[in-house]
Amino acid sequence: RAKAQGKACHEVFDHDMHTHVVALMQLENDLRRAVERQDFELYYQPIVALATGRIMGFEALVRWQHPEQGIISPAKFVPIAEETGLIIPLGQWVLREACRQLKQWQDEFSSEPPLTVSVNLSSRQFSQPSLINQIRQILVETGIDAHCLKLEITESAIMENTESAMDMLLQLKAMGIQLSVDDFGTGYSSLGYLYRFPMDVLKIDRSFVSRVDVDGEKLELVRTIITLAWNLGMDVVAEGVETTKQLAQLKALKCEYGQGFLFSKPLPRLEAAKLIPQPHPFLHLIQT
Ligand code: C2E
Ligand code: MG
Ligand code: MG
Ligand code: MG
Repeated sequence: RAKAQGKACHEVFDHDMHTHVVALMQLENDLRRAVERQDFELYYQPIVALATGRIMGFEALVRWQHPEQGIISPAKFVPIAEETGLIIPLGQWVLREACRQLKQWQDEFSSEPPLTVSVNLSSRQFSQPSLINQIRQILVETGIDAHCLKLEITESAIMENTESAMDMLLQLKAMGIQLSVDDFGTGYSSLGYLYRFPMDVLKIDRSFVSRVDVDGEKLELVRTIITLAWNLGMDVVAEGVETTKQLAQLKALKCEYGQGFLFSKPLPRLEAAKLIPQPHPFLHLIQT
């Protein structure tokens, strides 16, 4: 009897697995076509100076316009793109599109310092030696200053490429590009790489920021991370700021920059553009 039950379970499992695998293969097929047709759109989320409420730049976040399923989030398809290698052409499209958009905004709304754009790099992109030339070409083609481009790389992407990581980072640095550590605190516990690698910006993961107003331990952790970043000469961005209370805590800790739904969700380019000419789009939040 137990055996029969076991078998039934097994069949249910097989059936679910099968459905899952088929859906995944379908998604992979669709993704391959989407990359050919460039069925993607970039959304832009402002990164805000917490002392003044000014927008210093935007993070570009990719969205997939699926013909039947509507907008699909990167959490769902970036891992598949990464696994299949489709992230290489997709990532190149993202970089070019983000740089082109930045150039248009800089031409239309000049500011001092100029706006920046942050682009996420996946582990696989980061391990491609040809990345350097791709980026060099995109900079020339779009005419943006390398200092205005920030590349976001997670701790794990750095650690998965330890052999080549340092070389890659140094080459990108030499071009004048700024380097950010994304999702800091979620990956490896070794801080050694922070000291060794030439990173400019540290982005504190949302999981810390989201509890900074209720959890004393998290508050202390964030304080420690900010101090660490300062000692290393890095700028700090708090990710996922959602409440005015979190904002107040971050300001008390002298965290310079923040990003999150409190200020704005990631927006389609035309909506993001409306925020740029406003001198103090978030002043009401900053003053509370
Ligand atoms: P990420 O780089 O850490 O981006 C921040 C994510 O947090 C975004 O999710 C953003 O919408 C979300 N977020 C921002 N503020 C808040 C907030 O206040 N509350 C909450 N709950 N969430 C917030 P999104 O756009 O779904 O992207 C998810 C991840 O997908 C990104 O995490 C990044 O790792 C990856 N990704 C997105 N675009 C690209 C891309 O063009 N290339 C690559 N390789 N990865 C990308
Ligand atoms: Mg990011
Ligand atoms: Mg992040
Ligand atoms: Mg993330």
